[in-house]
Amino acid sequence: MALITFREARRLISETVESLQPESISLSKSAGLILAENVHSDANYPVNDISAMDGYAINAGDFEKNVSFPVAFEIPAGSNPGELEDGKAARIFTGAVIPNGADTVVEQEDAEVSEDGMVTLQRVSKGLNVRHRGEVIRDGQLLAKKGEIITPALIAALATGGNTTVKVFPRPSVSILVTGSELVQVGTKPERGQTVDSNGLMLSALAEQDGLPVTSLDRAGDSLEKHKSALSIACESADLVVTSGGVSVGDYDFVARAITESGGEILFHRVLLKPGKPILAARIGDTWIIGLPGNPISALVGWRLFVSPLAEMLMGCEGVFNRDSVLAELTDTVTNKGKRPVFLQGNLFLRDNRLKVADVSWKGSHDVVASGKANTLLFLESKAEVKAGESVLCYPNKWKELDYLMKND
Ligand code: AMP
Ligand code: MG
Repeated sequence: MALITFREARRLISETVESLQPESISLSKSAGLILAENVHSDANYPVNDISAMDGYAINAGDFEKNVSFPVAFEIPAGSNPGELEDGKAARIFTGAVIPNGADTVVEQEDAEVSEDGMVTLQRVSKGLNVRHRGEVIRDGQLLAKKGEIITPALIAALATGGNTTVKVFPRPSVSILVTGSELVQVGTKPERGQTVDSNGLMLSALAEQDGLPVTSLDRAGDSLEKHKSALSIACESADLVVTSGGVSVGDYDFVARAITESGGEILFHRVLLKPGKPILAARIGDTWIIGLPGNPISALVGWRLFVSPLAEMLMGCEGVFNRDSVLAELTDTVTNKGKRPVFLQGNLFLRDNRLKVADVSWKGSHDVVASGKANTLLFLESKAEVKAGESVLCYPNKWKELDYLMKND
């Protein structure tokens, strides 16, 4: 397959992907998910007129005759008061029902109680400190639209409007498949020729950071048969399979072959970018597979550019690829002499209210120390130089926060 640009590769994904089947879930589990349908209220809020203050409920018309009133009764929040007689006041607290016969609340700071049980109130205008029935939510009102992200604050609105469950696009479950016969598990001291499997842990942590449940983490060495059997199990249990290593052109790179021999369809294989050239996207049935290269930074770049946005699209997000990057001002000149666009490791920071980015030097796509220090990818076209002070495109690691800010702008 011919190399395609990373933008073409991303467009292929966005043109092909369909969001997962919506599910009804409890509102208490819905934060961060995308609504699959419009949500309405089935209640008024407030249910009836309530007090916005601790103070005294009165009929404002009574001020024409008097400013001192006998206190008839007390209305704590949650109680159901009787009628207030003409010429009397009721002691009332925030959130308590305004009794029939009253229409106004004078806050207690503007009230003076005398020993004989009378209260003298400052004259205020009718309706002051009363929250009216349905003034925030009317019965049947549209509270949120399909496609909106459920924030904690929106949960409050949906709950107040009488909703206990919502229909959302679920989070795709992820299965991780690590290839490579040279790998040993974390905690085992590598002997000659061996490498600690850092990708298994890193990819699991990336999934966790993206809020994606990991259903399995399997190891397939460099055996085609093991690749196929592991793939078949992974595809049964997950919406998205992410493989590590074995996706290049070496004699022991079996990921692409295992997918094809399992009846999968390859969307693209090999992308014009550095690091991460061997990246692959495929589908077996309804399950998506992203094949990431084994070098840790290549895997990281692949997750950030492809897996993470794909997961968002499966969760019902639209236009993700138009808003996962941001321009920042370079602190030092950077150069890409190569023929492929490059994603460098960088650090974004705010200085004098401006977004800046510093290049983090790296020794290559195996330099886990460099990527451990960075918080963004920094994009440079092929054969390009961007000078200090000029703008450069950054793909922040925690791009979802950025996405969230932009959507709420
Ligand atoms: P591959 O993509 O399989 O050709 O691997 C490229 C390089 O990444 C090799 O040096 C591998 O040893 C290394 N590598 C592969 N898988 C992992 C992994 N899970 N953790 C750390 N390094 C890996
Ligand atoms: Mg390998």
